[in-house]
Amino acid sequence: MTAGLILAFLAYLLIYAGVKGVHPWGPIVEAFGGQAPRPPGGSNVPGASATGGPPNLAPGEVLGPPTEATGGLTPAAAKAKVAIDETYPDLGFLGGPSCRKIKPHDGSESDVWSEHAWANALDYGGPAALMRKLVVWANLPHNRLRFKINNVIPPGSAINSVHIDFFPSHTGQTPPCAGGA
Ligand SMILES: [Zn+2]
Repeated sequence: MTAGLILAFLAYLLIYAGVKGVHPWGPIVEAFGGQAPRPPGGSNVPGASATGGPPNLAPGEVLGPPTEATGGLTPAAAKAKVAIDETYPDLGFLGGPSCRKIKPHDGSESDVWSEHAWANALDYGGPAALMRKLVVWANLPHNRLRFKINNVIPPGSAINSVHIDFFPSHTGQTPPCAGGA
């Protein structure tokens, strides 16, 4: 039984490493406060967030409205954007804030406001294989928790991008950009 648990954990680590492109033991080393080893043959570019992007907010930070410091995104969206930009530098950021209703994947119209209207959502596009990796990454339980991810919507027939939005959601509300509170 214990051996089974260990095997399951190791399998999870390998999947995690494959998805994120880190050294398999990196998460363990980091959990104990160490510096993770470089991924084998990895080409992670350090300092990707040192270009004036939004700050990497501390875990447990208080969620609030978009500010200049977060690049106009909610804190949760800004924090996830930093991580995604570093993990998948070859994906393109297609936008955060946008005062609009949701765009259903079947190409129809919707009356429901998009989380983009609160700057609480990110869209990423690029090679299909990378978008699939991002979908898996965003659905990993520890990433959902760490980045307060609410919805992950993979590319669909009418939309060729990955959509990710965050807690707290604004379901049923009217965004400030449309006269809401
Ligand atoms: Zn979106």
